[in-house]
Amino acid sequence: MRTAEQNTSEKMAAGPAARKQRLGVYLHIPFCVRKCAYCDFLSAPASRETREQYVEALKEEIRRAGELGERYRIETVFFGGGTPSLLEGRQTAEILETLSQVMLFAGDTEITVECNPGTLTEEKLGAYRAAGVNRLSIGLQSADNRELLLLGRIHTFEEFLENYELARKKGFRNLNVDLMSALPGQTREGWLRTLEKVTDLEPEHISAYSLIIEEGTPFYDRYREGAPGFRELPDEDTDRRMYEDTKRYLGERGYERYEISNYAKPGYACRHNLSYWERVDYKGFGTGAASLLEGVRYKNSTDLAAYLKKEFTYESVFPLSRKDELEETMFLGLRKMEGVVLTELMRNIYGDTLDRLTREGVLACGGGRIFLTDRGIDVSNYVLSEFLLDEEI
Ligand code: SF4
Repeated sequence: MRTAEQNTSEKMAAGPAARKQRLGVYLHIPFCVRKCAYCDFLSAPASRETREQYVEALKEEIRRAGELGERYRIETVFFGGGTPSLLEGRQTAEILETLSQVMLFAGDTEITVECNPGTLTEEKLGAYRAAGVNRLSIGLQSADNRELLLLGRIHTFEEFLENYELARKKGFRNLNVDLMSALPGQTREGWLRTLEKVTDLEPEHISAYSLIIEEGTPFYDRYREGAPGFRELPDEDTDRRMYEDTKRYLGERGYERYEISNYAKPGYACRHNLSYWERVDYKGFGTGAASLLEGVRYKNSTDLAAYLKKEFTYESVFPLSRKDELEETMFLGLRKMEGVVLTELMRNIYGDTLDRLTREGVLACGGGRIFLTDRGIDVSNYVLSEFLLDEEI
């Protein structure tokens, strides 16, 4: 089979990719080994046959979107889920191959696969490399096996280590590790131990979120019942200190915080996520996947049975007004530490709000940009909600 890289370089040589617009591609793989206790994502276990059928449907959906290739070149690809690493290496390669048949890849396209420890093998990683995958995002969450058990994760820290080292051995030089703080029974010392064990491995990128207990998850039910181990959530003060610890500790270890919950070694910020926050157009494939194309937001249907029959429908299509676009620019752009370029339109529409938030010390200006201050990041929900507009503009 030809690789995405081969097709990419030939098409780059043959076509003026640089003249096309940038596009991110998101591929939703809604399957997991089993459901984690805290998870409310669109994902569930599925048989090998269902997974195979899904891949076939995904390839068909990509082919039918072929006209996008006339306007766009692919800058980033992100396999998210679910657990995309549950697919066979061959299936991942086939999806990339199909994409490369209908759209140009930029020469340096970032191609990420989300992986769960315990689902990676040497053969699969080899297939990823051959297909052009150059970034792995590994969902570890904690280096403490008690916490992993509580979360209902399928793996231990030791299994993560094996997969991590295998990925390095196979030549992956851009690895993210997902972590989660504020877990039941977790202390500041415990969280710092997780940070220490992970940073000792020197991944290029770390995402660190606090646990959110979502209604409708087994975790929520057990928390409400007061089941042993589930009740003792860190109090607000400890949660806050963990958040401070994360920022300080990762800074000391050479990680630059570039978004509220994302840290990277210089040059390794996730380009795919940055493109969301910068409102670059993206096309999502798969059940429930979202897209933003030329000022319209789309959401694919979440109906798996229909999807397997190759019936591709949208659950919603939402053309954005100028007001929506401006609000999104603020909500999404201000999540980045560098903030957004301050435009004349923003000054006109948000003049009073900008002055007030600056006086409150939660927003700052500099170099023609506005950005959240440290205090602003702490109360980001409040600051971002101040950019909601009452009327169309
Ligand atoms: S692996 Fe991820 S998507 Fe799957 S159940 Fe766990 S948290 Fe949810």
